[in-house]
Amino acid sequence: MKTILAGKSRYTESLKPALHDAGFETIAVETVPELKALPKAYPVILLQDTELNPLITDKRGAEAAILGLKPKDLIVFLMDQNQDASPYIENCVLNMASHLAGLKRNIAVLLRSSRASDFGFDERYRTARKKGIAFVKYENIDISSDDGKTRIELWDGSAKLTMETLLCIPCEASPASELYAFADALHVRTYGDRAVSGSRGVSGGRWFLNQGTTFKRNVKLIHTDSLGQDTRSIVPSLIRDLKELNEPGQEKIAFVDSKKCAFCFTCYRVCPHSALAPDENNEAMKAEELLCEGCGTCGSNCPAGAIAFRDTEPDRTSEGEVMQQRTDFIGEPMEAMGQDTESVALGTEDMELGREDAGKESQKLKIFCCENSAFPLSSEALIGINAAIQPVACGGEISTSMILEALKQYDSVLAAVCCDDACKHRDGNKRCTRQVERLKERLGKLGYDPNRINSVRIGITMADILRKAALTALKGEVR
Ligand code: SF4
Ligand code: SF4
Repeated sequence: MKTILAGKSRYTESLKPALHDAGFETIAVETVPELKALPKAYPVILLQDTELNPLITDKRGAEAAILGLKPKDLIVFLMDQNQDASPYIENCVLNMASHLAGLKRNIAVLLRSSRASDFGFDERYRTARKKGIAFVKYENIDISSDDGKTRIELWDGSAKLTMETLLCIPCEASPASELYAFADALHVRTYGDRAVSGSRGVSGGRWFLNQGTTFKRNVKLIHTDSLGQDTRSIVPSLIRDLKELNEPGQEKIAFVDSKKCAFCFTCYRVCPHSALAPDENNEAMKAEELLCEGCGTCGSNCPAGAIAFRDTEPDRTSEGEVMQQRTDFIGEPMEAMGQDTESVALGTEDMELGREDAGKESQKLKIFCCENSAFPLSSEALIGINAAIQPVACGGEISTSMILEALKQYDSVLAAVCCDDACKHRDGNKRCTRQVERLKERLGKLGYDPNRINSVRIGITMADILRKAALTALKGEVR
């Protein structure tokens, strides 16, 4: 398989033989025009050389740096200021902070978001907290220095906190601008807002412990700061990921009905995994089978109802069956109730949103549970609660028509999706909660009780929050 190594890196030459031995023919490019000259189907490995602050990697160096400080003097590790920390950096910070806390030092770690709810990290955070390390989340931060002292003012969205320290350790490796040029050329989705945080996140590392992932399945990103002079550590997982690219990544993937497609590019804009491409000949969008992650976001946003989901074993599903799967599930797609179409009326006047089986002692609550957060928790969190649970690939799959359909049968509908920036499909959780807020507003305007629909964001350790949200929804109370 031909594979592109993109970017100026001191590791390019050492990576080539390792990939060659595994059967990959590598093509090295250093500029975007060189990249654009190559076939789009070739997988791409983005190599990004960055340096890390030695005070989070070198214990001796860190011990030397604190020699002049008193034990009660606050030492601050500053994460996520300009770029979300990669799993490698978060590991380094947890290691070094725990090491210095073990030396009876007063430690605070400042961060925008954490992996405390992820497997493998949850235990680490618990241990660190037991050692007295304070983890302080912030949304905005102001840093000034005066006379060797650093003054930090931060807001966590509700409260303001000010602290002073003689040692503030910045914990990031800011990528070079070429990385963004390559990411844009490859149509790789990024996260975080450059205007707010000074840079954008490219790696999907927020969620996956393994190096290399981005939001586009055939684009891998290697932050060389985590290589420690040796590429061998990442080659096995890289080769495994590249080999998997020969097969679709999901059992169910998107399928565009070219006859129905209005070629409006909505799905192209919202797909978190850049898995849709315009088919100019047919003037219709086309889903790239090997790139689709089956999140459903395109389907819930397509104004023409032209997107269905089919098994990746094509011979098992005929065209007719594909469309049946779609309509069975949600009835006729509501015209353009996508998130971004302000002007579209609900058109609920001809749809009775009262319960078809009102008065019957059946289930009152329908909960759409994201498979990556709420659904694994549902069996534990919802014991004794009379609710219909429906797993969805991502909050982004939950469409307005799905919610309205459910309102025909249930008193209340709850969408339970991932918290913070934990959505594997980039912003499916945020799309879902925005959509629910918008629908509540419209239902209210049309005289329906807006409290009949709600959303909740949870992590995989938050069963109590899911339970509380379900009980609140059952009572039809305001969440
Ligand atoms: S959103 Fe629907 S109609 Fe628009 S381009 Fe995509 S498939 Fe076609
Ligand atoms: S299902 Fe998700 S990944 Fe696949 S094409 Fe649609 S939006 Fe993109």
